[in-house]
Amino acid sequence: MKYSQLFTKTSKTAPADEVAKNAQLLIRAGFVYKEMAGVYAYLPLGLRVLENIKQIVREEMNAINSSELIMTALQRKEVWEKTTRWSDDVVDVWFKTRLKDDTELGLGWSHEEPIVEMLKQYIHSYRDLPVSLYQFQTKMRNELRAKSGIMRGREFVMKDMYSFHATKEDLDNYYQSVIDAYNRVFERLGLGEDTVVTFASGGAFTKFSHEFQTICEAGEDVVYINHDKSVAINEEVVDEAVAELGINREDLQPVKTAEVGNIFNFGTQKTDEMDLYYSDSDGNQQSLYIGSYGIGITRLMGVIAEKMSDDKGLVWPDAVAPFRVSLIRIGESEAVVEKADTMYQRLTDQGITVIYDDRAERPGAKFADAELMGIPHRVTISERLLDGDRYEYTHRASGQTDILTAEELLDRLSQ
Ligand code: ATP
Ligand code: MG
Repeated sequence: MKYSQLFTKTSKTAPADEVAKNAQLLIRAGFVYKEMAGVYAYLPLGLRVLENIKQIVREEMNAINSSELIMTALQRKEVWEKTTRWSDDVVDVWFKTRLKDDTELGLGWSHEEPIVEMLKQYIHSYRDLPVSLYQFQTKMRNELRAKSGIMRGREFVMKDMYSFHATKEDLDNYYQSVIDAYNRVFERLGLGEDTVVTFASGGAFTKFSHEFQTICEAGEDVVYINHDKSVAINEEVVDEAVAELGINREDLQPVKTAEVGNIFNFGTQKTDEMDLYYSDSDGNQQSLYIGSYGIGITRLMGVIAEKMSDDKGLVWPDAVAPFRVSLIRIGESEAVVEKADTMYQRLTDQGITVIYDDRAERPGAKFADAELMGIPHRVTISERLLDGDRYEYTHRASGQTDILTAEELLDRLSQ
């Protein structure tokens, strides 16, 4: 893509009411637009990051045989009344609305009840099981506080997945394969080292649910971990869990974290509440075992922005960067333009994503924009290095600069 095509402009300042670092940087760099507190639009650069994160999640969910769908954002009251969760006393984040004829509707904050209801139409016998389905959905939640930028939205993208099984063993095995898949996701996003699986509250069947918590100063949670991070416990269940697991409280240190994922083993609780059954090979009616698994897609983008940034701006890891390379042309002579155009074509032909700064701007402004946007690799073409096969390469994260031949450059960028 050519920079001149970008409609967004970088800015030295963020809106005065925006206190979160992730949103300040993302707004200044032209990745997101703030509509109101907790509600953000994803602009072309931001959308590319979001899609990269989604694609990694998609590949890992497909690899554990889950199928993608999209459910509805408008939801029926009757479905949620089958459990206790239509009530605003039970769920305090509902946005509700009405049809012209006054029928009450909900705007989806979760899709657990609706998917159980939907599957009544499709699951009848043990031959129909197991089933695993997932979606990327914009969830609506009337959050009390929205001060963490895109890490806590009133409208945000979640990947939610639901699995349905004939037996407890089958669900337990699948649940473990989801933990493994989630770990691969966080690894690929560059968060593997800093993300722990914690014991958290909310488990219906097993006593605890599991959360994936990423160590992050801007996070809203506190997790107690031991030094090698092999045990991690959420603050609200720490006493209970310490007793249950027989660990010394003194061996656990509190750290600030952001919840990036949460998985639940519901056992047969939801099934029983909502009358979803299957018939076994003898024709007897049996309860279904259900798991529910979420990942905060937009929150992850915020966490990466928080953790991978410096005084110059964002520092995206290659896997999620909107473009891997920023190709900066300095000078307007025919020779410079031709050399830069040719390199743009070569990189693009190799499947490397490039933003080509073709503007007639000062070099300093071009460098500053590429740094603010966090493009991982920079290639500069200028009059100075025109003679011979030489390109200036700079690595955003380390700041290291090398003069490379075209061959060496392509080699480095295809790693
Ligand atoms: P929190 O405790 O942070 O409010 P939650 O436990 O209510 O989150 P879940 O219902 O478990 O959230 O949702 C699954 C995932 O969606 C969370 O692990 C988190 O990553 C993400 N998420 C939840 N609420 C928000 C939000 N308001 N904005 C952005 N992401 C969110
Ligand atoms: Mg949660």
